[in-house]
Amino acid sequence: MKMKKFMACAAAGALLVSMLAGCGGDNADTNTATQAGSEEDLAYKVSDDPIELTFFYAGLNGTTPFEDDYPVFTEAARLTNVTLTGTVPTTNTDPYQAFNTMMASGELDDVVTANKSDFDQYAGQGAFIPLEELIEEYAPNIKAFLDEHPDVKKGITSFDGHIYFLPRYEDSGTAKGWYIRKDWLEALNLEEPQTVDEVYNVLKAFKEQDPNGNGQQDEVPFFNREGTMSDIYNLFGIRQNFSINEETGKVQYSKYVPEYKTAVENAAKWYAEGLIDQEIFTRGANSREELLGNNTGGMTHDWFTSTSSYNEKLQESVPGINFDVIAPPADINGDVWEDTNRTQEYVGWGISATNEYPEETIKYFDFWYTESGKRLYNYGVEGVHYNLIDGQPEYTSDFLATDKSMTAVWNENGMALFIGGYKEFNAERQFMSEEALVGMDLYTNNNYIKDAFPSLPFSEEERKVISDTLPAVQSYMDEQEQKWIMGTEDVNSTFDQYMETCKNLGMDDVLAAYDSAYQRYLSN
Ligand code: CA
Repeated sequence: MKMKKFMACAAAGALLVSMLAGCGGDNADTNTATQAGSEEDLAYKVSDDPIELTFFYAGLNGTTPFEDDYPVFTEAARLTNVTLTGTVPTTNTDPYQAFNTMMASGELDDVVTANKSDFDQYAGQGAFIPLEELIEEYAPNIKAFLDEHPDVKKGITSFDGHIYFLPRYEDSGTAKGWYIRKDWLEALNLEEPQTVDEVYNVLKAFKEQDPNGNGQQDEVPFFNREGTMSDIYNLFGIRQNFSINEETGKVQYSKYVPEYKTAVENAAKWYAEGLIDQEIFTRGANSREELLGNNTGGMTHDWFTSTSSYNEKLQESVPGINFDVIAPPADINGDVWEDTNRTQEYVGWGISATNEYPEETIKYFDFWYTESGKRLYNYGVEGVHYNLIDGQPEYTSDFLATDKSMTAVWNENGMALFIGGYKEFNAERQFMSEEALVGMDLYTNNNYIKDAFPSLPFSEEERKVISDTLPAVQSYMDEQEQKWIMGTEDVNSTFDQYMETCKNLGMDDVLAAYDSAYQRYLSN
């Protein structure tokens, strides 16, 4: 019956869209309004009368629920005449539950931020309206953006060929890199590790040769705050989670390929020798604070900007600390590559079928893709958060001088939220130290970074196969992995049985569903 409600809304929405699409021609001012850097504030008005839209933003990816007085959105409201009013309590800490509650109620906010998979699922039930015609008619900047980024367009297109949301786009893929205590390398007279064997030898030396100089073997050579061994598996040629096999062009899964045997066998060996954090699966998000702060952590693989901040933070408590970037060590096949890539268009905002202002809403969305909108999204309000220096936005020194993380100060001002926006990496660079920039440019300029796994347009049937099957297989995989790593079961004698069990649990069906969605993606 919820479904019925959505269907009725969808029909109304579709009608409205086609009516709107049929009465274009009086939007010339909208087109001129979107000229880059226009000084005429009126240029961005999407309506003569103020419009208020309810807004679902529950705080995805570490951000918090939307607050109505974010300076960035107050400025956007001044320019566009559209005000967003958040509906998720700011105390909410479970974005998925908040989303499910709203969807179950059938009462949707006018503008909804969600994951691509959510849009795919609920658009099929009529909860969200298709945007292509609205974009064509009223959103020249979005149209230009999608024309210039055909991969993004593919990534946001649903299985039924429609576009239901506009994504948070990142103009740079750089995400994570390898970090090592270079001061320890120096103390032990070691070179930066460039191969798997050299990584092993360095970690072994960190373990046995007391680089922190306290007379104890208390070093934790390799650690990872996300509780995953996938960085180590990378060294053995395995990509994380789902990826495209470069030879066959088929979708594969990291823990369901023959090469996984060698990877997990070696990881278990390294773990048994104390080269990997014995608490890697449980230590959690504060691993860097803990293990760098107490001068025991030696190497990790993590986000550039935040990981680069520890040298300065810890310069007094850990004198001489130099936790710095190295190039990815070559894997066992001799290939040098980085697995993580942040360019994935899987979160953004869409228009619900009950929104009474689809035309104004798409124009409002379009504002965020103008030069002024992009600048507001990335840098905040001129004179408050940034100034123009030689025509380029630069954060004020007050804004940069913060003890909080970059993402926290963005969040509290409403910058770079997970809405339909164009995130410029140049903004993030302003938070980074010179040495971090050098390290990161190493990854970019040498093209180490592999393509991200695309956002796939799953059909309802494919989604069902995956949601019915994958969680159980994954939990079996994780359980077995821990047994191997902890040494309670031997990899060599149990691996074949493991692959057989994954197959019996339906992993081939999952891959087939991924493959058919991938073929659809390619043809979009
Ligand atoms: Ca020591």
